Amino acid sequence: MGLAMRFSKHLGLLVTICVVAFSVSACANPLPVPPSVDALPTVTRKPSYNSCNTGGPHVALTFDDGPHPQLTPALLDLLARRGVKATFYVIGKNVNAHPDIVARMVAEGHEIGNHTMNHPSLPKLGAAAVSAEISGTNDAIRNAAGVTPATMRPPYGAITPALTRRLNDEFGLSVILWSVDPQDWKIRKAGHVSQHLIDNAKPGAILLAHDIHPSTIEAMPAALDALLAKGYQFVTVSELITRDRPPEPGLQKP
Ligand SMILES: [Zn+2]
Repeated sequence: MGLAMRFSKHLGLLVTICVVAFSVSACANPLPVPPSVDALPTVTRKPSYNSCNTGGPHVALTFDDGPHPQLTPALLDLLARRGVKATFYVIGKNVNAHPDIVARMVAEGHEIGNHTMNHPSLPKLGAAAVSAEISGTNDAIRNAAGVTPATMRPPYGAITPALTRRLNDEFGLSVILWSVDPQDWKIRKAGHVSQHLIDNAKPGAILLAHDIHPSTIEAMPAALDALLAKGYQFVTVSELITRDRPPEPGLQKP
């Protein structure tokens, strides 16, 4: 065996060892380990959120427009199998139709948020109609599951600064938008939805999905398993907010 050939053989082995060692260490601890949520000091809530800065591998998975009588229970089953906590932005009239599903969400550690009674674009409504949409949904959730929402998501993401202030001050609701949108309501392909979530999730992200489309439910096992394997921790929106911190001074943009 020539010297050059022997060298290249050794080099090949060395490269293999490095690749294996790197992937083992990358898998073992890909993201920083966060403190317990109970140990954190309370922070002043912001009026609205698209994402949070938790300093850890947290993401909040959110599902809008349910509960759906068949799809939502199937989703709850697959979340439970993985120990994943989610936040459900429910529509009040669907809550009244399926209160048992909302009670199950709460019993299994998920968060319930307000997504209005009838899914209107809130900026198009008068003040009294907005109040009816919000308080009607809060009542439906309280009747179904005995909890009062701390967060809301405006239908279509349609919101104004004045409406945000009202929702904060009058109803104690933080306005929750999102940072990752697979457009699952439009692109009804499980493969697209799961890949978009996997590719775009970042620490502190709020992921948007809808538990009323079969393709979205079908996307979840692959998306959840891949994100869990990357080291992400799924927390409720309220836990994500509790963990939110101002950016480190050194990281602030000028
Ligand atoms: Zn919606």
